[in-house]
Amino acid sequence: MQRLLLGLIFLLAIACVNKQESSSISIPTNVIPQSDGTVSMRWDTANLPLSMKVSDSFSATASQAIESMKLQWNQSGAAATFFSPNTATTTNKNFASLDTFFDSELGIYWIENWYSEIGSSALAVTQFFAARRNVGTPNEYMEIVHADILFNADFNFNTSGAMGSYDLPSVALHELGHVLGLKHESTTSSIMYPYIGSGVIHRALQDIDKTNIAELYGTSQGNVGMTISIEALETVPAEEGAMVRGIIEILPNDEEKVTFLPTKFHLPQKMKHNH
Ligand SMILES: [Zn+2]
Repeated sequence: MQRLLLGLIFLLAIACVNKQESSSISIPTNVIPQSDGTVSMRWDTANLPLSMKVSDSFSATASQAIESMKLQWNQSGAAATFFSPNTATTTNKNFASLDTFFDSELGIYWIENWYSEIGSSALAVTQFFAARRNVGTPNEYMEIVHADILFNADFNFNTSGAMGSYDLPSVALHELGHVLGLKHESTTSSIMYPYIGSGVIHRALQDIDKTNIAELYGTSQGNVGMTISIEALETVPAEEGAMVRGIIEILPNDEEKVTFLPTKFHLPQKMKHNH
């Protein structure tokens, strides 16, 4: 119950930041955020490309379609290769607890038993874990250190674009954008637009998506990535490596939703990645 309450408080805090202009936000002394009162999230480029494995619950056709979506991001024109192509498949995971996904593999999973913690109307979510870096300096950011994509098996997906079900590659392309740290875009042409209808195919990055990802991993990060509000960050210890768990959802035709939750994990040192 306490955890649920915290989640609700974070949601309210985030909604607040989205609606208000930065002038009214008071900034704690231990955080020096972006000018809009948030702290940005992204991977350390030293940990790219990501080895994001597709679970063995997906058909060969679906798996190949997801690989094509990884290539879309790799060929975005940004100065980075984001995903290793054609990684081996991995055993599907449907852990009892969402925290357990913080393991040694980045994966794309097919979830038969959806999580009560996540809204039942979410087609898919990206769950990520991020650690505080450069705490209290102008370079403070949240380093994404782990992310998984969870597809909600309560919905019908296909790879043919047929009406009556959702286009799996399109949803994968969107979620892979979140894995990299992109937030939602209000421009309807963007692949990061937070809604998709059944039978809609949206499998190609648009110019705005290419611009945004180049900016997020360029020399000056614009306001294109996921951020955490100061209010939410205040609940995370002001220590190097203190972590937060976040869930960002794509909904069939509903509100955008981003939830930050505390996690038991803490990275005392700079993350050394094997994937
Ligand atoms: Zn989304």
